[in-house]
Amino acid sequence: VPTTCLRSRWLLPIDRPPIPDGWVEIAAGRIVDVGAGRPPSGCEDLGDVAVLPGIVNAHTHLELSWMAGRIPAAGSMVEWIRTVIDLRRSGPGAGQPGRVEAAIRAAGRLAESGTTLVGDVTNSLETPAVLADLGLSGTVFHELLGFNALEPVALVQEGWRRVDEVSRLVDPSDIRFGLAAHAPYSTAPAIFSEIARTRRDAPLAVHLAESAEEVEFLHSGRGPFRELLEDVGVWTSAWAVPHCDPVEFLSRLGYLVPGLIVVHGVHLEERGLERLREAGAVLVTCPRSNAWVGGGLPPVSRFYASGIRVAIGTDSLASVDTLNVFDELAELRRIAPEVSAACLLESATRMGAEALGFGAHAGTITPGKRAALVAVEVPGGLGDVEEYLVGGVPASRVRRIPASR
Ligand SMILES: [Zn+2]
Repeated sequence: VPTTCLRSRWLLPIDRPPIPDGWVEIAAGRIVDVGAGRPPSGCEDLGDVAVLPGIVNAHTHLELSWMAGRIPAAGSMVEWIRTVIDLRRSGPGAGQPGRVEAAIRAAGRLAESGTTLVGDVTNSLETPAVLADLGLSGTVFHELLGFNALEPVALVQEGWRRVDEVSRLVDPSDIRFGLAAHAPYSTAPAIFSEIARTRRDAPLAVHLAESAEEVEFLHSGRGPFRELLEDVGVWTSAWAVPHCDPVEFLSRLGYLVPGLIVVHGVHLEERGLERLREAGAVLVTCPRSNAWVGGGLPPVSRFYASGIRVAIGTDSLASVDTLNVFDELAELRRIAPEVSAACLLESATRMGAEALGFGAHAGTITPGKRAALVAVEVPGGLGDVEEYLVGGVPASRVRRIPASR
């Protein structure tokens, strides 16, 4: 098997500190060796770049890309959702070309910005083919919702049937599938418990504690979410007010399981974060989106201080202007200056890969893992490469390193 060797000004394996003048050997698409100093003979010098594992966007919705630029920043989450509902009524329906084309364009830019692994949430199941066509890997969460669903068991069964149908069309080593409940305010409790009961090897996922109004709704059954559900005609008195926090809500439904991906968590209290950590959950933070939808800025420093594993997502183009994780890192650096750049980069790589069930293959530059690597142009004479990389790297300075070179 022919081996290639790449040398760079910086190599960031993530499972160890950055290596100045590091090199990596690759054969048959896998990492064979990593080193510092004098490289093996015939090593290609990439120059002033930092080589990183492929970046992981642990939470997005490619199918919402057609909404880019159409939903203004909102003062509250419910206000934002009302605009989304209105836009959905007037926008392209299921399977219409505009929607898929927008997803393809957005996924292309996501790949160009250095992301190789994606946690993609989809109602339509149109996006696995989009990921596969671009050589992206990931876990696709087929999301189910319905506050007053009459036949939750049948709904979940149909979800799995559709997943089985679509998953046959892609390589299972690149793209995995699971079902996910959307959120406590939109999804019947019986859907949560049925998804948890029938889960397979992919992690569970849920949007949780994205807004203060969600927490209020679970505690009291009242507030702007109750009004919204009544306005759209899906409120049901069969929904028993749980009178608890969002984490306890999941726990009662059997949804609080190891590997659970909790997206957002902006309004979780210390005890909730601690329970998630104890349960082996992963928190995926999307701070730019949280601000845009009126949910508030996430307490990122508290997330890290709690010891829970933190991964990074962008959420969709309905609430952010790019799917570039380097832009999300820059926002994290801005709002959590006390979290180290090394921790933020680990969140954007290893933590995301582990969260999505790809920890054995991706997330670090480690012998045996896939050679899904990216190179970021860096200035010569750079002192702190990690800090530089979380300072906002434009997509024009990033390129994927083809695994088959
Ligand atoms: Zn989302």
